[in-house]
Amino acid sequence: MFFRTRRLWKKPDRLRSRYDAVIIGGGLHGLATAYYLAREHGMRDVAVIEKNYIGFGGAGRNTAIVRANQRTSENLPLYKEALDLWPVLTRELNFNLMFNNCGNLNLVHSEAAMKASRLNVATAQFHGVESHLLDAAQVKEMEPALNIAEDIAFPIHGAMYHPPGGVVRHDAVVWGLAKGASAHGVHIHQQTEATGISVENGAVAGVETRAGNIRTGRVLISAGGYSADIIHRMLGLTLPISVLTIQAMVTQPLKPLLNHVVSSGAYHVYANQTLKGEIATGAHMDPWPNYTTRNSAHYIKHQAEALGEMLPCLRGVRFMRHWAGLADMTPDMAPIMDGNDPVRGAYINCGWGYFGFKSCAVVGKHMAAFMAGGECPEILRPFHLRRYEQHRLMGETAAVVNYSPDN
Ligand SMILES: Cc1cc2nc3c(=O)[nH]c(=O)nc-3n(C[C@H](O)[C@H](O)[C@H](O)COP(=O)(O)OP(=O)(O)OC[C@H]3O[C@@H](n4cnc5c(N)ncnc54)[C@H](O)[C@@H]3O)c2cc1C
Repeated sequence: MFFRTRRLWKKPDRLRSRYDAVIIGGGLHGLATAYYLAREHGMRDVAVIEKNYIGFGGAGRNTAIVRANQRTSENLPLYKEALDLWPVLTRELNFNLMFNNCGNLNLVHSEAAMKASRLNVATAQFHGVESHLLDAAQVKEMEPALNIAEDIAFPIHGAMYHPPGGVVRHDAVVWGLAKGASAHGVHIHQQTEATGISVENGAVAGVETRAGNIRTGRVLISAGGYSADIIHRMLGLTLPISVLTIQAMVTQPLKPLLNHVVSSGAYHVYANQTLKGEIATGAHMDPWPNYTTRNSAHYIKHQAEALGEMLPCLRGVRFMRHWAGLADMTPDMAPIMDGNDPVRGAYINCGWGYFGFKSCAVVGKHMAAFMAGGECPEILRPFHLRRYEQHRLMGETAAVVNYSPDN
């Protein structure tokens, strides 16, 4: 029998010589910004320029965890809005993004860490984000497979429980946003590398690509791990970003055994069970800057040992796939979103490290408003680049995934 496949998004015929806006990077943030530029601001002539294929970067490599676990008043409102947006976006795109609202358990491994976690929970609650502190017995009740024995390397004293979080299927987000953007007229050009930005009289005049030059007055650089290099080469700005490799892997499929996303800063491990039954698990980053997307045996051993101790029923289970991606880390573990400074019409969105999946849709929405109107939306203002030269870093280093007060 012959099946005709229908493309989710339209392949544009050719690269036009002029667009109203050009987005460099067909990842999560680039596609989301293009989608909202077209849908909410009526911009029809928008191009997404992707050097490989859409989803090639962190978009297709992340572990798909969503939550609002940041702890500063600048970050929490953004991540809360991001969580609230997934069901809305699913309906709007008419595309199943597979939001599994299973909740997150962030394990706590000492009494000192329990005290620090109390502050995190209170801050989250203050900002309207549901979060609770559980003791070890309550954690065991919620996640019976966890080992709460006291004779392990990092005994579990409790957990921060965050019910609104969970997992969203990352590929579906890429495909859904591409479908939505294309339906509103956005051109998605794959296999098209941006090589330069031309500037005239202090303003963006065009983008150079391997497929030809484009005239445009607005460009967004959202190229994930490659952003800092591109921004340096094309706009002459040096960003305080280190690019590090981060790895993840999945096991063979198993019967249901894990009810939540479970993470442990002390073990440097986080895990959730996918709808297919695999245990998807993420590791820590390489400690040195590099652009490698190769994986290393060291992490397989580390994940096996850590998971085997935290979840003894996983001992002997096989890893099936293992991969790596890039994390672009800023000193305060918060992203950089800025525009019109020092070049008018040039916008940047980067520094998302290993936490840029959960925020992509909401950031796309606000970056689109920024690009369309020229005014930075209130919620994005704290993330400007000049905070580093002003020594006004955000206090996020203790809140992101792989760090906990136990470290
Ligand atoms: C292993 C791993 C696990 C992660 N887990 C999570 C998680 O659980 N939750 C979470 O929130 N985040 C997670 N992340 C982080 C998240 O994936 C990233 O923060 C996110 O993908 C950043 O989105 P982006 O659109 O900025 O960049 P990307 O998705 O990386 O897209 C950038 C795109 O730009 C393209 N590009 C680069 N240079 C050029 C050029 N010159 N011209 C044209 N195109 C170019 C690239 O090919 C790429 O497709 C994880 C990341 C990794 C690697």
